[in-house]
Amino acid sequence: MPIYCISDLHLSETSKDTLTLFLNFLTSQVKQSDELYILGDFFNVWVGDDHNPPYVRTIKATLSKLTKQGIPIFLMHGNRDFLIGNRFLKATGCQLIPDPYVAKFYGQNILLTHGDLLCYHDHAYQRFRTLVQHPLSQWLFLKFPLWLRLFIAYKIRQNSQKQQFKNTKKWKICKKIVAQILRKYKSTQMVHGHTHLPKVYNFTLDNAPSKRFILGNWHEHAEILICRQKDFKLHPLRVSL
Ligand code: MN
Repeated sequence: MPIYCISDLHLSETSKDTLTLFLNFLTSQVKQSDELYILGDFFNVWVGDDHNPPYVRTIKATLSKLTKQGIPIFLMHGNRDFLIGNRFLKATGCQLIPDPYVAKFYGQNILLTHGDLLCYHDHAYQRFRTLVQHPLSQWLFLKFPLWLRLFIAYKIRQNSQKQQFKNTKKWKICKKIVAQILRKYKSTQMVHGHTHLPKVYNFTLDNAPSKRFILGNWHEHAEILICRQKDFKLHPLRVSL
């Protein structure tokens, strides 16, 4: 049975098509899989586990059903949902994995990362990342009332949407960092999302053939990684499946 890697679903109150596609994917494909890895930006925004609107409750119930059936579901934080915490994990049975993380797929070391760590050229973003990833900032933010957290998240999103068009550095992957991480974790294969530009890169690292799989973001369709013994490939996913 295959192992699936997905990322950048950006689920929200308004992403009805993506939600349908995801729930469909869980009940038709993940149900018959070995493992599922969700590599960040699962939600478009996450302001705390106490925010529990109906679509989140539906997702939790479906994930919980699968993990109770014995399918391991691993979750990595992205740059938008890094506040997913223990309450969510407990309700779903998902296991949080750090970024980066080395998984073993059929005996091979596979380096999994969300991908924003690789966008090293965006210094402003890396500074922002250090600040928001700090436990103290997170502790303080979670002390705010829910309405204020939702408002702050809305403002940050509005600001980043404005900058997205100006800032091409934002999506530039630093190949030096890719090589450093692969060497450090003794892997020749990497899977990440974040850039929303699905592609497979073949390259040579220290004379070893290496690969980088970039997952796609989700709308009414998606690009996911399906891993079978000796056969890892990006695969399109559609509502009609
Ligand atoms: Mn991202």
